[in-house]
Amino acid sequence: MTNNLPDALSLTQALVRENTVTPISTPALDILEQHLSQAGFTITKLPFSEPGYADTDNLYAQIGSGEPHLCFAGHVDVVPTGDVADWSHAPFAAIIDDGKLYGRGTADMKGGVACFTAAGIKYISQNPDFKGTLSFLITGDEEAVAINGTPKMLNWLKQQDIKLDHCIVGEPSNPSFMGEEIKVGRRGSMLANLTLFGTQGHIAYPERADNPMPRLAAILDGLCNDALDQGTNLFQPSNIEVTSVDVGNDAHNMLPQKIDVKFGIRYNSLHDFDSLEALLKQKFDAIHERLGGRYEVDYFRSGEAFYTEDKLLIELVQNAVKKHTDHVPKLSTAGGTSDARFIKNHCPVVEFGLVGNSMHKVDEHVDIADIKTLADIYLDIVENYFGAKLNMSEGDE
Ligand SMILES: [Zn+2]
Repeated sequence: MTNNLPDALSLTQALVRENTVTPISTPALDILEQHLSQAGFTITKLPFSEPGYADTDNLYAQIGSGEPHLCFAGHVDVVPTGDVADWSHAPFAAIIDDGKLYGRGTADMKGGVACFTAAGIKYISQNPDFKGTLSFLITGDEEAVAINGTPKMLNWLKQQDIKLDHCIVGEPSNPSFMGEEIKVGRRGSMLANLTLFGTQGHIAYPERADNPMPRLAAILDGLCNDALDQGTNLFQPSNIEVTSVDVGNDAHNMLPQKIDVKFGIRYNSLHDFDSLEALLKQKFDAIHERLGGRYEVDYFRSGEAFYTEDKLLIELVQNAVKKHTDHVPKLSTAGGTSDARFIKNHCPVVEFGLVGNSMHKVDEHVDIADIKTLADIYLDIVENYFGAKLNMSEGDE
């Protein structure tokens, strides 16, 4: 074994020491480029720009050729630090204290990027003649709007005729300990602005006006109390949350003209945007048929629910995690969005990374033992992938 292979911990530290608050990424990408090109990877820097958005630098590294193609994806931009004085260790110093590495991005997700980079380089050094393609898709635009990052990189891959077969996103998927969860999908999300119209009038003469409040009561009752579903084996039940009711009426003796209601829905794979829109239309129409009046509603789509059923990928990750942590990770679809929502349109994708309970917080940190464990897990995945996938391709494909 050569001595100049980067180890995951020092690589994490080097990346954390570069201040790459989103959408800055270049100094961290330069470090990765240096290690990856030295190991024989072909590097393509992919800077993208779009009017009205900050320019972003991205990096695609690839080695090998043909099928199967395993890609690791991640980001090196980080969220801002907040008041630096609140941190017990400077956020870009990468200080190790009591077995923990502190710094912005240690968990989310320079640690994950360092682990898959170190594991990939180690694999290549031991298996220079492996059959297939190993790649890294690393963006600087995940924490902000994700306009100039992963979606454009995936388009570029398509234009180059590069097809990913499987992808692992190194986001911190474990809520509180290593080996706890693999994310195999995410819930869908939509937002809505609902306006109920009435006719203004004096409370002494309700027959000459139209109070929208009874309709509001019926609608809130339905939104707050009618279950959308009971969940599935992979997803928790969908939920509707009413977040604002705005009548803007200062007078006790006046019936309001209109009411603005805001609500959001996080939904599982039993629904999609269109089916939910149809379901709510039915409910709102029924209430208005019964109680009169008129309403308008605008829905905003932010992403459909998705999950992967790819057995090979799930078992590959699950087995590696079990081997190195002694935990059988739960398959989860909880939590917010990640770039997996774009990648899932190109190939099966799961997320597994470090422990995320301090991400986006003051004193973000990871256990240094977990960094070593994650690098071992990724190495195991790569080793088994290029074995397992080859065996499978003889029969199943
Ligand atoms: Zn992240």
